[in-house]
Amino acid sequence: MSKNIKRSRTRHKNCYCSLWQTSPDTLTQQGVKPGYCGICSLCGEQGHLRHAPGFHPYTDAWCDSCFKAQSMVNGLQCLSVPLAICSLLFSLYWLLGLCVGVFVFTYALINYKTHWIRKIAGVLP
Ligand SMILES: [Zn+2]
Ligand SMILES: [Zn+2]
Repeated sequence: MSKNIKRSRTRHKNCYCSLWQTSPDTLTQQGVKPGYCGICSLCGEQGHLRHAPGFHPYTDAWCDSCFKAQSMVNGLQCLSVPLAICSLLFSLYWLLGLCVGVFVFTYALINYKTHWIRKIAGVLP
């Protein structure tokens, strides 16, 4: 039985829905509804508190559509770093420039232009 419960929760793996068992008061105080564990930091919808996608060492709350958009942006950033190193190794300076551009662009998106991520989330299926 407990195994079944666990499985049904793996839909949002690595989120903090288990807080409902340990400290439900904290969640209700924040206005979080059952079935969720956080308020999306980008759009204010009910969402899940989870580790940032990619190799980004932070935790925040996202709703599902914002999380998808954030995954794309973070993923792109994670890709740009090894690609930049490769382009350096092979002296592909145009690619290096592109990678640096992508990195700076996604960095700006993640840190300053979070409303753009919200817009991306709006156009994603
Ligand atoms: Zn959750
Ligand atoms: Zn959202």
